[in-house]
Amino acid sequence: MPDSPLGSTNLRPFYFDGHVHIGRTSRNEPVKITASRDLTFANIARECVNRKGIDLVGIIDCGSPAVIRDIQDMLGGGDMVELPGGGLRYLDSVTVILGSEIETGEVGGGTSHHVSYFRSLGQLLQFSNTLSGLITNSDLSSQRCGLTARQLLDLTDSLGGIFMPAHCFTPHKSVYGNCVPRMAYLFGDAFERIPAIELGLSADSFLADRLDELKSKALLSNSDAHSLPKIAREYNVLLLAEPTFDELVRALRREENRAVVANYGMDPKLGKYHRTYCLHCDRVEENPPPLSRCTVCKGANVIKGVLDRIMEIQDFDVPEPPAHRGPYHYQVPLQFVPKVGAVTLNRLLNRFGTEMAVLHQASADDLVAVVGREIARNIVLARSGTLRLQAGGGGKYGRAVTSEKDTQLKLFADGPVVRRDEL
Ligand SMILES: [Zn+2]
Ligand SMILES: [Zn+2]
Ligand SMILES: [Zn+2]
Repeated sequence: MPDSPLGSTNLRPFYFDGHVHIGRTSRNEPVKITASRDLTFANIARECVNRKGIDLVGIIDCGSPAVIRDIQDMLGGGDMVELPGGGLRYLDSVTVILGSEIETGEVGGGTSHHVSYFRSLGQLLQFSNTLSGLITNSDLSSQRCGLTARQLLDLTDSLGGIFMPAHCFTPHKSVYGNCVPRMAYLFGDAFERIPAIELGLSADSFLADRLDELKSKALLSNSDAHSLPKIAREYNVLLLAEPTFDELVRALRREENRAVVANYGMDPKLGKYHRTYCLHCDRVEENPPPLSRCTVCKGANVIKGVLDRIMEIQDFDVPEPPAHRGPYHYQVPLQFVPKVGAVTLNRLLNRFGTEMAVLHQASADDLVAVVGREIARNIVLARSGTLRLQAGGGGKYGRAVTSEKDTQLKLFADGPVVRRDEL
């Protein structure tokens, strides 16, 4: 269908998770050692289609030569095809965006992670070949290369890819958490070539929009999944004509009405690095941020929280979102919902099809019929944003907690079913 004069009538929403790791290749070679063994290329694609309802998935260990062999096998066997608009289509159901997460280091110190996305296998091969001379073991995930962040951006752009600073605020390996208070300090005049940044699980767009320099950037909420169930615990809704690499780039750059129209993510309190954590006292801070010392032992042996870091470097006390910023919806992944274990999760997926359907479409009554009132209540509380949360820090996830008061809420007696699908 041709575009209307406005160019937007044929656009529709697509779900995108841009940061999923690979644990092993199909030959059982390790890629991301800390990731689950069943996180293979084919299993990720299947999980997106069958259980998650994701339309585009960024697999970010594709620069590994061992993973490239898997991709070549799948292209050769006909399970996957390269799309004319860029990206790979798996079983005509999900678009794989080829990506590579790499660690860079600055001359004056500071390390950070970045994801480079590529349009085609040809581009990816060139990238992988160039990096193989700069990395000790290029089969493994997220390896340190001998480049600065700026040099990696230049390399990515020169090959036709796009570059996204990953989990920008986390304390150990990120631009703001470990390198500089302003991203532009790292990239200079090339800063404007970066179309998007990744928020990471411990931040959201409300926090990122306290920084003036991020106003022009698309903000992405991705899962950084290290196991199949964690795919799509954060994702983005993109307005596209079709699920391809070229359309994704247009959306990130807000061209021809394409856009990131919404983020769905965990409440940043649930992330592993939201608040400052004292290594000496083994304790997550609850006192008002920003804190760079422990309020109990007064020591500085802490892992600074994302919230604490943002408040330390912020331009604005309250978020100042630009006009193009879409809403950020909190969702508690089913894994975080109290009492939802593997058996319950399977029961929910068997009945409702995908996690998206459970989180956004299933009625409260239908949930009760499948998992009983108590768990159904927890799910409804989670998706209405009223579950009580304890902040995470120092590498420990935050927690959802239920209390006596919650059990007295009359969620099912009358009134409309809570729905979060506001698109
Ligand atoms: Zn990373
Ligand atoms: Zn990662
Ligand atoms: Zn302490």
